[in-house]
Amino acid sequence: MHHVTRREFLHQTAIGSWLVCSLAEAGRDLLAAQAQPAPRYDLVVKGGRVIDPSQQLSGELDIAVSGRKIARVAAGIQETEARHVLNARGKVVTPGLIDVHVHVYDGVAPLGIPADPNCIAKGVTTVLDAGSAGAHTFPGLRKYVINVVDTRVYALLNISVVGQSTLSDDNPHGELLDLRYANPKLAIRTIEQNRDVILGVKVRLSRQIAGEHDLSALRLAKEAADAVKLPLMVHIGNTSTQLSDILPVMTKGDVITHTFHGNQGGILDSGGRVLPEVRAAVGRGVRLDVGHGRGSFAFDVAEKAIKQDLLPGTISSDVHQFNVNGPVYDLATTLSKFLLMGLTLDQVIERAATNPARTFGFPDGLGTLREGAEADVAVFSLTEGKFEFVDAMSQKRTGNLKLVPVATVKAGKIYGSASIPVVRG
Ligand SMILES: [Zn+2]
Repeated sequence: MHHVTRREFLHQTAIGSWLVCSLAEAGRDLLAAQAQPAPRYDLVVKGGRVIDPSQQLSGELDIAVSGRKIARVAAGIQETEARHVLNARGKVVTPGLIDVHVHVYDGVAPLGIPADPNCIAKGVTTVLDAGSAGAHTFPGLRKYVINVVDTRVYALLNISVVGQSTLSDDNPHGELLDLRYANPKLAIRTIEQNRDVILGVKVRLSRQIAGEHDLSALRLAKEAADAVKLPLMVHIGNTSTQLSDILPVMTKGDVITHTFHGNQGGILDSGGRVLPEVRAAVGRGVRLDVGHGRGSFAFDVAEKAIKQDLLPGTISSDVHQFNVNGPVYDLATTLSKFLLMGLTLDQVIERAATNPARTFGFPDGLGTLREGAEADVAVFSLTEGKFEFVDAMSQKRTGNLKLVPVATVKAGKIYGSASIPVVRG
């Protein structure tokens, strides 16, 4: 039996011609909608000045994102190819920055601050909490910070079991004044149980933290770091032992933080020359980190070191409760200070994205915009004007460029900023 098709039926009816006509039009619209392919990408970051030192990229490029990953970096990716467009024209686009010295154990370490408003909102997608937690307080860092915030938080474990929970302005007694709190066995066990997020060991050697036994504390921290084969980050400045006796304990891959501090126990001799022991340490693979902090960055020290070609490997902020409202503010401001001292934009981004990823064992695909990497992207405006910058010693410098965070993408998700509206494609 022949079934009358809808078309035949419509043709046979009085109202057929009108209906066919309108259905055909509807069908054409439907076809047109189907003919337009679904956007290939979820997001395109369009038209920015892309700087990715991991691939020696520096130029006007677009970044396409599919799901959580970078799909393509190229010029001329069309806005119609993406569901969302982040307009980055006139802006600087970098990999999501990695700050290897922050304190985000908010509410436990007195210096702790919340991670998200200070990191991911400021172009920093990945951070290393530098020793806020020790073995006894680490489970809380994992449970209440690492597992719940949007910023990717990794940690260096403080060799002191209490972490940085004791020291504040109202209780100026650091975590290693009693050396019995330095417990390599417990540190090693904690690291073995949390290798996915603990990337090294931290020790602070200032006199108000480690007293007169800083060298013993350092050796205990080094013992733990060696046992788990991870880097040791050493906080220097105002130590009872001089730096030239501290450095020989450090080996390839270990990191000095607060490299350019302006206190006793620094990297320069009395004539302002870089100590030969510092050069020797760098020569055998010890890394230099900035860790600006409240008391640990001096313009004059950094300027003299840079003039003698001693550049930091990583530029970090050491942003915490007592410097977040100045002089540190955020990592971008710290980077601006290095622009002021003559580093290029590519050089500062290299030290806040590429080098951090190579200094610590972060998972692959961070600190880079290569195709297939995590879609972590930071957008900044490089603002021109007259800006006063202050270091940790109240020394002032005036610069004419300031890197200002405007938007962040982490794993393909936009952490916006009102200054760049997200346009639906
Ligand atoms: Zn610190």
